[in-house]
Amino acid sequence: MMKAIVATEPGGPEVLVLDEVERPQPGPGQLLVKIAATGINFIETYQRQGIYNVPFPFTPGDEASGTIEEVGEGVEGYGVGDRVATAEGRRTYAEYMLVDADKALPVPDGLDLETAAALPLQGMTAHYLINSTFRVEPGQTALVHAGAGGVGLLLIQLLKAKGARVLTTVSTDEKAQLASGAGADHVLNYSQFSEHVQELTGGAGVDVVYDGVGRDTFDGSLASLRPRGYLVLFGAASGPVPPVDPQRLNVGGSLFLTRPTLKHHLLNPQERLWRSSEVFGAAVDGSLSVRIGATFPLSEAADAHRALEGRATTGKVLLIPSS
Ligand code: NDP
Repeated sequence: MMKAIVATEPGGPEVLVLDEVERPQPGPGQLLVKIAATGINFIETYQRQGIYNVPFPFTPGDEASGTIEEVGEGVEGYGVGDRVATAEGRRTYAEYMLVDADKALPVPDGLDLETAAALPLQGMTAHYLINSTFRVEPGQTALVHAGAGGVGLLLIQLLKAKGARVLTTVSTDEKAQLASGAGADHVLNYSQFSEHVQELTGGAGVDVVYDGVGRDTFDGSLASLRPRGYLVLFGAASGPVPPVDPQRLNVGGSLFLTRPTLKHHLLNPQERLWRSSEVFGAAVDGSLSVRIGATFPLSEAADAHRALEGRATTGKVLLIPSS
């Protein structure tokens, strides 16, 4: 048996309860991993609310790091005791998880297991957003919403490393300091941000907006773009964006709108290796700083969700099963 969080029914954070469940057995091609740290991601708050088509009851979580405890039949290249992380595990709000061996990411020497749990999902997301969704070139200007968040702090640093100019929005002074510390050139609050963006770009607008906030920022994001600019809508922290008339893209200046997601950017082992090795490598060599803003014991997953939804977190939020 093992301890795991179970979402009993669609609802608020209180539906996340600690339970004793069967410890999983690795099938062919799978690894059983004793979890050191679990990464919390915003998508789990949408799943918990019943917005996505997930059958209840269920144990949330896709991201974690830990040590291999058992190796399933046919697995090559991994052994008991190896350290791995993943963005594609199963039911990671728990003491143990199963992960398909081809979706496990070896944790390099020099990376501690908490940082390794903080990076797979948000780090590979920031990586695909700037390399694959809109390939940012030196000298281009990007607007990043929620710049002190998990994805936000990583995006700012990776954009600066590419030689981009970065504008970002945040809601508090503390978050503004963190976003500046990550390298943002201009930190704005959300109020009338598109007007400030136009001033800061001499009326030209930005090349790309990375918008994980959604409903509250969508209109301003469109108004912040240069002609033929890209609105990369990758989340809905403030709620889903209502249906959009495509004619708005024409009026806005022949704009592009896309709604990408991570799983379509991890299509094969090569993509997974490319993104994870660049992100893990940058953390190991110190060029990417990974902020773990809060850790909660596994039993307090509900409080972790409250903090994330209440805009009270910065950087990554982790659950620690052993605490
Ligand atoms: P964050 O750490 O960025 O937390 C969300 C932040 O959004 C808050 O801290 C807050 O920052 C901001 N925000 C603005 N309005 C609201 C609101 N009404 N309620 C709550 N938060 C608000 O989360 P993540 O880094 O985990 O995720 C950021 C976004 O990226 C999410 O929408 C998530 O779903 C998405 N995502 C998408 C992926 C994909 O592949 N498509 C993969 C990973 C994440 P502030 O107070 O500064 O405004």
